[in-house]
Amino acid sequence: MIWNRNKECMSRDEMSALQGKRLHKVVEYVYHNVPFYRDKMQQLGLIPDDIQTIEDITKLPFTTKKDLRDNYPFGLQAAPQSEIVRIHASSGTTGNATIVGYTRKDIAIWSECMSRCLTAYGVTRDDIFSVSYGYGLFTGGLGAHYGVENMGATVVPASTGNTEKHAKLIRDLGITGIACTPSYALYLAETIDRMGIKKEDLKLKVGAFGAEPWTENMRKEIQERLGLKGYNLYGLSEVMGPCVSYECKCQHGSHICEDHFYPEIINPVTLEPLPKGQTGELVFTTLTKEGMPVLRYRTRDLCALMEGECECGRTAVRMTSIKGRSDDMLIIRGINVFPSQVESVVLSMEEFAPRYMLIVDRVNNLDTLTVQVEIRQEYFEKALDTIGEIDALEKKLARKLQNVLSISAKVQLKEPNTIERSQGKSARVIDKRVLK
Ligand code: ADP
Ligand code: ZN
Repeated sequence: MIWNRNKECMSRDEMSALQGKRLHKVVEYVYHNVPFYRDKMQQLGLIPDDIQTIEDITKLPFTTKKDLRDNYPFGLQAAPQSEIVRIHASSGTTGNATIVGYTRKDIAIWSECMSRCLTAYGVTRDDIFSVSYGYGLFTGGLGAHYGVENMGATVVPASTGNTEKHAKLIRDLGITGIACTPSYALYLAETIDRMGIKKEDLKLKVGAFGAEPWTENMRKEIQERLGLKGYNLYGLSEVMGPCVSYECKCQHGSHICEDHFYPEIINPVTLEPLPKGQTGELVFTTLTKEGMPVLRYRTRDLCALMEGECECGRTAVRMTSIKGRSDDMLIIRGINVFPSQVESVVLSMEEFAPRYMLIVDRVNNLDTLTVQVEIRQEYFEKALDTIGEIDALEKKLARKLQNVLSISAKVQLKEPNTIERSQGKSARVIDKRVLK
């Protein structure tokens, strides 16, 4: 099923024409309503009429998270306060929160795009969907909530916390879908196990997982443990919230709602646009937003736009899964290291639970990397019985990490349930170098 065939399956020419028209309109709108954009355009000698087609977008200046912070709280808001019906804030994973205001029309478009996502996952009006992203300033909870309601499925606003009660509701109400972070999905799976609930007692079919990077191995683990199919859901508050892109049944990249959010991929160092297929920093321009439109917003998320058409029939361009954030990238002894690389190694070994932590330090001017990983309960008991087993396991993981990361890491195995659980986005890196 496709929620909005008109928009999701447009021909490339039609889509480009629509994007160009909308781009011109939004540029004109911010030029007259946001001094920040007007100043930036004037510095480049640009007026709104210079922007007529979607290709003209490269003439426009970039916007960064710092610009949003410098203009805190309402400096980039384009609509008058009387038109703003809701405010959210980014979760501040990498610093202070940024404030985003939405008009009634923005909320309607958000719900529409969220309905596209859910329909692509196979959700229908017959489903009972639990939203377990945090409700509140974070866009995850309310964003997904309105989407479920908009498409006519039943929403259960479970939010995070109180996981035992939630697990019971999932069983008792026959909840068929859940939206949450992949880390919360695992936490939920552990809780369900602990409570003695079997996955056969549950009716879960679909998971809408996002808000943090996750790997294919993580997907397998969650699917196996909760007995559902996990789909990617991507978004960010500066652009809208969850709904910016979504996987379809083909699960080969996530379709972008590109009639509303225009994507580009740039080289994060030179800021030059990169050709389709190359990995770089994802940049979005909102084409229809009224509250706080953004021009060429640098997400710092690293991925590629995919070429070719999708078998599902949607023509909307797809993005690969997020490899990490350009600011998530650790440079250890001169080598680029992403937490997701460690995750894929840890999850490829059945002895380990998907719980890990990277600790980076500098000792005698030399960078060090320590990877802490939790052993699964069943292996832990076995390992304790066999002398040398833990040691051998540490060595095995260290060897695999060295192969993938090209630098050596010290491995510290931890007992089951000792690495802190997260219900929202998980923090997986402690970089002690920045504190020194
Ligand atoms: P922040 O975490 O920057 O304070 P948000 O709460 O708006 O602000 O989170 C948006 C960010 O979350 C994205 O820029 C991206 O880094 C991450 N994110 C969201 N969805 C996904 C996803 N499906 N896969 C990977 N990363 C995601
Ligand atoms: Zn598709």
